[in-house]
Amino acid sequence: MEYRELTEHDGELLQVATLGTFNWSFPRFSLTDIELNPDLSKYAAFHPTRGDFGFVADQDGTAAGLVWALKLSGADAGYGHVDNEIPEIGLWVHPQYRRQGIATKLLSLAQDHARARKLPGLSLSVEPKNHARKIYEDMGFHEVRRDTAITMVWRLHDHPLTHQPFPSPVPAGMGWPNDLADQSTTRARTPAGVRRLAKTAANLEELDARVSVCGACPRLVRWREDVAIEKRAAFKSEPYWGRPVPGWGDPDAQTLIVGLAPAAHGANRTGRIFTGDRSGDWLFAALHRAGFANQQHSNTAGDGLVLSNVRITSPVHCAPPQNKPTTEEKAACAPWLDRELEMLAPQLEAIVALGGIGWAQVITTARRIGWEVPKPAPKFGHGAEAALLTGNRPIRLIGCYHVSQQNTFTGKLTTEMLDEIMSRLPAPKNS
Ligand code: SF4
Repeated sequence: MEYRELTEHDGELLQVATLGTFNWSFPRFSLTDIELNPDLSKYAAFHPTRGDFGFVADQDGTAAGLVWALKLSGADAGYGHVDNEIPEIGLWVHPQYRRQGIATKLLSLAQDHARARKLPGLSLSVEPKNHARKIYEDMGFHEVRRDTAITMVWRLHDHPLTHQPFPSPVPAGMGWPNDLADQSTTRARTPAGVRRLAKTAANLEELDARVSVCGACPRLVRWREDVAIEKRAAFKSEPYWGRPVPGWGDPDAQTLIVGLAPAAHGANRTGRIFTGDRSGDWLFAALHRAGFANQQHSNTAGDGLVLSNVRITSPVHCAPPQNKPTTEEKAACAPWLDRELEMLAPQLEAIVALGGIGWAQVITTARRIGWEVPKPAPKFGHGAEAALLTGNRPIRLIGCYHVSQQNTFTGKLTTEMLDEIMSRLPAPKNS
């Protein structure tokens, strides 16, 4: 299959495609209707000079599919109109060529083109029972209006640091800073998939990439993506990552810090753990004071922050509603942490558990991967310490109150208390 740009000479093809999209369920219109009915004929008129564009899937000279984007506005606005600057697209695949990935390829070409031209997005109209809706959702379109048809939009916003345009949530491999995944990264869709992909990850980088595209928990996938679409008012003009947030830091770290889960408008927005919220401000400032971080601020991925001898992770990688993952969701995500600990174990000296839940999760994980845990199980407390044995080598588990706003605002956790925990960790490299 070859893909080429749509041109003004493709008028006939455009008419066939327009007819095909309006007749998707049964033959309602004829080619004459397309020519004479202005509500339909505007979809078959292609004007590159006003900003229209499109792509054709071509199989040996036969058009197998077509996506086309029209700048319809004013009295000419189409059914899927949302904004004069956002072209409305049509998508058609010849019945003989359906279910071959052509629609997805055509849509991604249109999205790439929109990004390259710095358009604010793309919109479309689709009838509720049309199966194509699922493809649009998978490609990042979301519903903004519903009457007899559904209007969907895919909006782009500039990354606050790189100023590259991204949709929310961010698809893998679009150039988001530190995104380790791409379109070919294998995606877990079930807890069994998580177990298999965690176990077979060859190294930390592959593990993190696989985590970042995981979709095994339907409730959390919906939540993290809804948050990414709706956004908080202060971040309306930013793209949101809206994907699982993997562990991050020094891959050869002797210390692992374990939190709970990404924050909805923090790491779920920036794509980097503890980045972009008050909790992270506290944690990274403390890491900086102790020499583990080269800067004290952590506002966006790609900001130059580097950690030395410390890695940070969480037992749940997706932002949960009310910060409360369910027991099933924690269980589904557990194999990622199992594998991460196994990979880090050879050089690991200390694990800092932020809060009682993180502490309990580390102990459960340690038992599951065959480390020896003292009996009875050590109790969490700020400053508490226990030895976990891997072989005969001890790894120190250190308890620390979570750096949540609730703890730092109320003085339950102070900078001195946090600095004292940092002082117990293996030194940063080159210190
Ligand atoms: S919480 Fe974990 S297992 Fe569930 S979807 Fe997110 S990354 Fe996957």
